[in-house]
Amino acid sequence: MAYIMPGMHRLPDLPYSYNALEPVIGEETLRIHHNRHHRAYVEGLNRAELYLVEARKGNDMEYIKYWENELAFNGSGHILHSIYWTVMAPQGTGGRPGNNTIRHINQYFGNFEAMKHQFIQATEKVEGSGWGILTWQPSWGRLEILQAEKHQNLTQWSGIPVLVCDVWEHAYYLDYQNRRADYVNAWWNLINWVEVERRLAAAMTGNVPLVIAQ
Ligand code: MN
Repeated sequence: MAYIMPGMHRLPDLPYSYNALEPVIGEETLRIHHNRHHRAYVEGLNRAELYLVEARKGNDMEYIKYWENELAFNGSGHILHSIYWTVMAPQGTGGRPGNNTIRHINQYFGNFEAMKHQFIQATEKVEGSGWGILTWQPSWGRLEILQAEKHQNLTQWSGIPVLVCDVWEHAYYLDYQNRRADYVNAWWNLINWVEVERRLAAAMTGNVPLVIAQ
């Protein structure tokens, strides 16, 4: 598993030439999409990560909301575009769905046509900008089809949670009312670090049941 230093993300090369997907995707479209749009995500992600390195050193979290949004917007953009390029191939060279793909599609969606229909419908009906995504849900051991509106909404796709804190008001309002910071600071002392360690190990193997602790 690669460890990528903060600020060291790089624009991946396309696995084909800019005109290789014509006539479905034109050369000019593919060049601008890859060389300008994707590059901007990579540069924005690097900039955000390097800013946050300095912010942690200086204990300066004044602009944390802005930089977390930059992390999510550019990080998800970099990840999803990197996948998008590699799941396309020049017409006639992409092969057929593999055995494992077919098995998991049939198991959950019933058959290939049902998955295809839902994927195309879900992708077509994304509100505004976004993505249609066939995703492996490691918590449930199966595939799912999801829409991503825009693509960030403060996440980086393909991440697997190892520690989470609920800050919906129902989690703390009776005890802390509007003092969310008091709740989060007190909550920190409740963390089960043994479980966090186990969950990280599971995430790194890609085998992540929803509940790990016994
Ligand atoms: Mn794009």
